[in-house]
Amino acid sequence: MKPIIRHFPVLVLGSGIAGMCAASEASKKIETALVTKQDITGSNTYLAQGGIAAAVTSFDSPSLHQQDTLNASSGLSDIDIVKSITEKAPETITSLQELGVSFDSKNNEYQLGREGAHSKRRILKCGGDRTGKFISKSIQNKINETDNLTTFYSHSLLKLLIKSNICVGALTIDDNGLIHIFFSEVTILATGGYSALFENSSNNEQALGVPIGEAILSGVQVSDLEFIQFHPTAFKSDNKCYLISEAVRGEGGLLKDQYNNRIMEHVHPMKELAPRDIVAATIYKNIKLGRRVYLDASHMSSGFVKDRFPGITEMLEKYNLDLATDKIPITPSAHYSIGGVSINKEGVTNIHGLLAVGEVSASGFHGANRLASNSLLEGACLGLVTGKTAVRINKTNYFKKIKTNVRSYMWDKYSNIYSKVNINELRLDSCNDINEIQKIMWDFVGVIRDEEKLKQGNRAINEIETKLTFQSDYLKELSPLTKIITLAKVITKFSLNRKETRGVHRRKDYPNKRKKYLYRQTYNHKKGWLYHDNDLQRLARSDN
Ligand SMILES: Cc1cc2nc3c(=O)[nH]c(=O)nc-3n(C[C@H](O)[C@H](O)[C@H](O)COP(=O)(O)OP(=O)(O)OC[C@H]3O[C@@H](n4cnc5c(N)ncnc54)[C@H](O)[C@@H]3O)c2cc1C
Repeated sequence: MKPIIRHFPVLVLGSGIAGMCAASEASKKIETALVTKQDITGSNTYLAQGGIAAAVTSFDSPSLHQQDTLNASSGLSDIDIVKSITEKAPETITSLQELGVSFDSKNNEYQLGREGAHSKRRILKCGGDRTGKFISKSIQNKINETDNLTTFYSHSLLKLLIKSNICVGALTIDDNGLIHIFFSEVTILATGGYSALFENSSNNEQALGVPIGEAILSGVQVSDLEFIQFHPTAFKSDNKCYLISEAVRGEGGLLKDQYNNRIMEHVHPMKELAPRDIVAATIYKNIKLGRRVYLDASHMSSGFVKDRFPGITEMLEKYNLDLATDKIPITPSAHYSIGGVSINKEGVTNIHGLLAVGEVSASGFHGANRLASNSLLEGACLGLVTGKTAVRINKTNYFKKIKTNVRSYMWDKYSNIYSKVNINELRLDSCNDINEIQKIMWDFVGVIRDEEKLKQGNRAINEIETKLTFQSDYLKELSPLTKIITLAKVITKFSLNRKETRGVHRRKDYPNKRKKYLYRQTYNHKKGWLYHDNDLQRLARSDN
């Protein structure tokens, strides 16, 4: 038996907002395949509550949006990217509307929300707090009608087909255990972030970062992996975390311990509305001290809660809880991964034929801290741009001969895969060690870090790695666990290197920002470390 083989000029991996926007744009000009792990419900996009940021009114402007984004970023944003995305934000909203998205409005005016650290009301929403669900469904309906676009659900990425710095497609396994080879001229990686690598996470459980680990091992450059945003308020039950939007605190929700004390009272002048990282760290410290922390919104009327937070109400009802009357037990949770595959403002990576976009990537837009509702914007805006880049690259037809050689090398390597490995071992659900890795990441690489804990975490991951046995190097190279372990180790190394507290990266042993760390870190598994700030790029070995 041989893998099923297909050829598409453009291959998009992942069907969140970034992948769907890229695929819809590319397919306007060229045949495109959209290959993804689950259906559209299996993405972080689907879970998004608050909304999408854009300066769309006369009392706002892209330059104010730009300034707010830079202010939040703790000095590490790439100014060019911030300018480009905030300027394109209003036209991105128009493009989403053309893709069928309908934003909440009244009397022909958008109903705009305001979120922490935005100086203006500029958050567009759909269906109250169900923005992601509405966006996903609308775009999916549109792309289903597109002739040039074929969607393949239930496919997990096994390998990016990269050799000699050229990508010629991807190897996947579907839910029936069948292996597929997708050969392409351009591959767009849009597989989302890695926050589910932590025990407490608001993310879709698939967001383990397997594709980023795979990219690292294939020589794709990654940046900013130490920056993981922890959201302060998630409700945890049955080992699953459900996000409770910041907007609940925006409407007056209070954070209290079991003795009814307000835990933010003496911590920050803005109390419950202090920056996310400060609120998350305060809740985390209280829980570590053995206290329970609750979100108390019982001053709100039942009617208001149902109207304003329909999604959260529905979720809590399943656990017999009511936001309007009950105190909701909460925990911080890993929420957004700022780091990922290094890209420029067109989605280009260091590998020819490989583009990346959305939460899987690190464009420099968010710097060291993400402004709320800027990630859907980045995914949509750069998704559309990256779709165009794919069309342009496809036309150039560079490296034709080398690509032919790489394709035949890959066919030789994977055509006999069924006889070389037990296919069941390539499935993520066969990996028992994942829960242990998630616990290690939460305990040692989580909300508040220090050198000793990070080193302990690294040792614990190494121990898991040492105990693992694979029947062959071939299986080891393909196993999702190899990729998860690689990513966990690289995140830990990024975090160890940054001996300061900046943005969402909090170090107990280095509690302040340090000027000498005003640069972004980039790692290439084959070449080493690259540090770059806005004026300077230098390749060097880590000196830490
Ligand atoms: C609960 C929650 C609420 C949020 N609220 C907001 C908000 O209000 N505003 C905002 O701006 N941001 C919000 N965010 C963040 C935002 O939703 C994400 O950053 C954004 O949706 C990421 O889009 P994406 O397309 O890059 O990735 P995703 O939407 O995560 O999509 C990734 C895709 O890749 C596929 N995939 C993953 N692994 C594999 C694999 N191994 N093989 C093949 N396919 C794979 C998945 O199935 C999925 O289709 C929220 C996030 C969460 C978790």
